[in-house]
Amino acid sequence: AGTPLYLGIDFGTSGARCALIDGRGAIHSEGKRAYAPGVARQVGDAAGWASSWKEALFQLIGDIPPAHRPSISSIAIDGTSATTLIVDSKTGELLAGPFLYNESFPEALPAVASIAPPNHTVCSASSTLCKLVSWWNTTCGGGGSGEDAVLMHQSDWLLWLLHGKYGVSDYNNALKVGFDPEADAYPSWLTSQPYARLLPSVRAPGAPIAAVKDDVCSQYGLAKECVVCTGTTDSIAAFLAAGTTEPGRAVTSLGSTLAIKLVSKVRVDDARFGVYSHRLDDTWLVGGASNVGGAVLRRLFTDDQLVALSRDIDPAAASPLDYYPLLKNGERFPVNDPDMAPRLEPRPESDVEYLHGILESIARVEAKGYNLLRELGATAVEEVFTAGGGAQNEKWTAIRERVLGVPVRKAEQTEAAYGAALLALKGADRRHDIARI
Ligand code: ADP
Repeated sequence: AGTPLYLGIDFGTSGARCALIDGRGAIHSEGKRAYAPGVARQVGDAAGWASSWKEALFQLIGDIPPAHRPSISSIAIDGTSATTLIVDSKTGELLAGPFLYNESFPEALPAVASIAPPNHTVCSASSTLCKLVSWWNTTCGGGGSGEDAVLMHQSDWLLWLLHGKYGVSDYNNALKVGFDPEADAYPSWLTSQPYARLLPSVRAPGAPIAAVKDDVCSQYGLAKECVVCTGTTDSIAAFLAAGTTEPGRAVTSLGSTLAIKLVSKVRVDDARFGVYSHRLDDTWLVGGASNVGGAVLRRLFTDDQLVALSRDIDPAAASPLDYYPLLKNGERFPVNDPDMAPRLEPRPESDVEYLHGILESIARVEAKGYNLLRELGATAVEEVFTAGGGAQNEKWTAIRERVLGVPVRKAEQTEAAYGAALLALKGADRRHDIARI
């Protein structure tokens, strides 16, 4: 085997991707697979999702050039947050689910709200805990014992297909089932519940779990030392891709909507604004998401027009136009106002001026977002990396730099699979920790 390589696999909402990197972060191979539509999309066939993920996982590994495979030191996987499976730990059989990230179980909400602290992240009908409680009430409330059942997040399950050990997760995925990352334990209001025995033990993302199973190694030509590491959620993996985890560093994602993520020494959570913190080793990743963003641009201009009009914008001049570029009514962050109306008028005759006003207005929302996190107690932003379709617009970057008052640049890597590969790299460095699990 040549240079050690590290494999990250991302299971996002639309498909699976992988990135194979070396110790310096250079990409040696990349791959992409869609979820088999025939299997997955059949109404009522939830289990079809699991088989399509499994298929994509092994297709991606099989797509890696055979010459690279013996060099893979470690593997980590990210999945969509709150995507949940219930598995029999005796047989490996899928007992229930997958319950997808956006599936809602409102019937479980009263029971969850009655045990969890007010405004806790589990108090949302799509949380992992609502999924667990809903399943528990229908199955075990109906006489089943659930004795050998274990709860797995999507990435836990996919990692398990590779290593075969039950009951290991990471604290990013486990947040929405109620794990307390600050105490590094499940809270007593949760451990006192009868279904608490289904909960996995929780490690930091990028912690080595076990070596890849023998049959997988021999089938795919992986080294028997190749170690499988805990993963994270897809949005955290996308953040990690930027490769910056110092307090004060942030990633703004300018896609259809605007999302910001800031590394902070202090944990901040505020349900009013949908602000919450994920743990990142010894720091916190604080996030907020606004409804303004590229969706409005796309409605008004084609991507080619955006490029052409942007050329004539002078980013050094502040636009006097004051818009709030929403697609429809309602904003959560940095202003919590479910009735807020879009403001895109008056429209000047010049489209260059119009676009300048919109880009500048979105930049003001971004600045207000970072200011709000600061007011809530987070570390002040010092440098912003940019991901998403808006990252390629250099004029916008210059406008944002002026409005935010900190350096702004395009993130070199933005794929979640790349972030997962960085977790694999971290785990390979700690492979001696395996014995302690
Ligand atoms: P998502 O994955 O959230 O749908 P993307 O990250 O693919 O979004 O980004 C797409 C968005 O980027 C579109 O809303 C589009 O208007 C915007 N966009 C594309 N090109 C430019 C550009 N040159 N300047 C500003 N925005 C752009």
